[in-house]
This record gives sequence, C-alpha cells and structure tokens, in this order.
Amino acid sequence: MSIVTRFAPSPTGYLHLGHAFSAVTAWRRAREAGGRFLLRLEDIDPSRCRPEYATAILEDLTWLGLDWDGPVRVQSEHLGDYRAVLETLRARGLVYPCFCTRADIALSVAAPHAPDGSLVYPGLCRGLSADERAARAASGAPYALRLHMGRAVTEALSFKEEGEGIVPCDPLAFGDVVLARKDAPASYHLCVTHDDALQGVTLVTRGADLKTATHVHRVLQHLTGWPAPAYAHHRLLTDPSGRRLAKRDRAATLRDLQASGVTASEILARF
Ligand code: GLU
Repeated sequence: MSIVTRFAPSPTGYLHLGHAFSAVTAWRRAREAGGRFLLRLEDIDPSRCRPEYATAILEDLTWLGLDWDGPVRVQSEHLGDYRAVLETLRARGLVYPCFCTRADIALSVAAPHAPDGSLVYPGLCRGLSADERAARAASGAPYALRLHMGRAVTEALSFKEEGEGIVPCDPLAFGDVVLARKDAPASYHLCVTHDDALQGVTLVTRGADLKTATHVHRVLQHLTGWPAPAYAHHRLLTDPSGRRLAKRDRAATLRDLQASGVTASEILARF
C-alpha cells in the first residue's frame, strides 16, 4: 500500500518553526516512500480563521520548498459533508443537543479534566427528554451537539503509534465530546477524521499535543466504519527556555525568519 500523509494546519495565524517541522515531517515521509503528501486547511472555526492566513500558509510552504499532491482541501467548502455525518449519528441516537454554557459546565462539581486538559462534560443535557430538547431548541436557545460516548464505545479500541506499537484507547475519559459547536458547524474531531478517511491518509503525522485526541478519533472511525490510519506523533519544538513554540506567544514566524535573511534550506537543515 502506498503511503499518504498530510499537513492540516488551521489558518489562525502565520506558520512558525513548529508548523514547518510538522509539515516537513509529513512531506518527507511521503516523498521518501514515493507516496502522496496532501495539504488541508482546517478552517471550520469562523471566529479564529482568516483567509489571509490561508493564503500565507500556501506561500510559506512553497517558500520552504514543499509541494503537495492534488488540490488543497479547504474544510469550510465542505460543511455539507460534516453535516451529513452528524445527521447519521443523530439518527442512530449517538449525538444529542447540549444547551449548556461554559459557566454551567465549570460550575458543575462533577467535572473532572480529560487527558487533553479540557473539562469532562458532566452530562447535564444527556438525559433531557425529546420534548424538552424540542422546546429549548424552538425557544431559540443555541446548542452544541455532543457524542454520547457511553453509547458510542461498544468495544475496546486502540491505535497504532509508530515506534510504540498498539496503544489502547480510553475514550470514556474524554466524556461526551462536542462534535458541532454553537458557533462552528462541526468540530475538529469530526472533520479531521472524516477528511483523513475521505482523502485516504494512511499515516497521520502531527504534534505530540494531539496524541490524546486520537482516542476520540478512533471512536469516530469505529462508528462510521472509516479506516484507521497509523499515527506518528512527533516532538514539539521549544524555544531556548524550553517553552513550546505557539502562535499566542508570538513565536518567530517563517515570514519573520525569511525577512531576517534566513533561507529555506537553513530551516530544512534544522529538522
Ligand atoms: N488543524 C490542527 C491544528 O492546526 C491539526 C490537525 C491534525 O493534524 O490532526 O492544530
């Protein structure tokens, strides 16, 4: 089987060295094996994504010397695909509307933290009757859609992590995750697993910060019958003080580096 990798950034800022490392990792894995390297823009969150960042991502990757196969998949152009999956899950009783605010959830004494650091939803809306749900929705109350994790997980799941082997999943530790937000039509978890399957990705390379999310992704793959790719979560680049490079900390962007005279080959040589 030929290898297919991808780089799937969210256009919420300019790419920094951490992104470059991630992109180059995926690109090299594909190119070294004579496989395909895909580029996908995960721009489903309208409050954070900007078209100018999307344009900049393509420019910066090209400057780095990376090339990708086929057209760029832009998630915001495919909202119908994600809606259709949500509808199917809803019809199977695996998804329910949640009217809670962040404050409702934070106030709940029973909300522990999930392995990814988020609060585990205490299930406040899980038991609403069909009438209550309909009445609240009819009143115009905004709602998210959550996965009923207890129903979704019917067997032991695991994933294949390169260099580590088979990793058992513990999706129940994440609780009823959000699959569609009040203000965004579909969640990262849903879109990323849908697209990895649709695009035939065989090896997901991404930062180690997303490794825990794989436990949730395996549940979605199990429910939908999508194939499970192999995973290779890579180390995260840090600044000299050991802090992870992040957009919010204004890590030097590829544009800054380029402007200061750093060349693409110097960057590639660092990885
Ligand atoms: N869009 C995600 C991000 O920029 C990455 C998704 C993934 O590689 O699974 O953090």
